[in-house]
Amino acid sequence: MAERRLGARLRLGIRAPRSRPLVAREERRVRRRGDPRHPVIDVRDVSKTYTLGEIEVHALRGVSLRIERGDFVAIMGSSGSGKSTLMNILGCLDVPTAGRYLIDGTDVSELDEDDLADLRSRKIGFVFQSFNLVARTSAIANVELPLAYAGLHRAERRARALRALRSVGVADRARHQPTELSGGQQQRVAVARALVTNPSLILADEPTGNLDSQSTADVLRIFKRLNEGGRTVVLITHEPDLAAQAQRVVHLSDGRIVHDERSRQADERLDGGGS
Ligand code: ADP
Ligand code: MG
Repeated sequence: MAERRLGARLRLGIRAPRSRPLVAREERRVRRRGDPRHPVIDVRDVSKTYTLGEIEVHALRGVSLRIERGDFVAIMGSSGSGKSTLMNILGCLDVPTAGRYLIDGTDVSELDEDDLADLRSRKIGFVFQSFNLVARTSAIANVELPLAYAGLHRAERRARALRALRSVGVADRARHQPTELSGGQQQRVAVARALVTNPSLILADEPTGNLDSQSTADVLRIFKRLNEGGRTVVLITHEPDLAAQAQRVVHLSDGRIVHDERSRQADERLDGGGS
């Protein structure tokens, strides 16, 4: 249900850029003043309360989280702990009830819907548990979707979509529709769709929740490779084995961060050591 709504908003997020889109303005600013070196994600004392009639649900209760560029962070927690709520805020699909969220140093509360749509479609790649592929539409057409308004020629869109499919190992399934693909293949197509715009931030909400162990390993390997290529990855999972592959693990419980630690593996990597 929540994912369906998200899917709809995600599709709404794919729209024609304006003449001076946010990202272009920001790139100009960076060229003028040099890279300001903000954390990619800077969540400051964020709360999110849903009101259902008389009942208030406190999904997030004062969460603060900074994530630096190029990090690979797993967010863990039991069902209902607020993981998806946090991811929706990180992905600018929803706004906090209180507190601030800065993405690359920009306070999202200062952006209008067009700026937010630009930001989502250019900077962020989303992957969901239920794949969210468009039915009765070929894999390659699904991957092309985020490029539809980027002002590219059809041949260029095709070529980029095919490259993205190739990078996740499903180019040979380009003409297949979602129902003709296994779960693991569908998720790889969804990852290709998330990648095709070359986003710097990948947000994945339980992307392996519907996959068998082999497909889970494949998808995780893709995320690790993307991270090694410099992208920031935030992976929501409740599987400790998966979280252990990240450089940092953040635990949510009842809308609060109760634990936040870097893995030893990550420290070794930073030291240039490790195996
Ligand atoms: P998780 O992803 O960790 O399972 P969620 O962020 O989806 O948790 O949900 C956190 C809490 O907020 C839960 O109690 C859930 O029922 C509630 N919640 C989530 N989305 C909504 C919504 N749109 N309206 C009302 N309550 C919601
Ligand atoms: Mg969830």
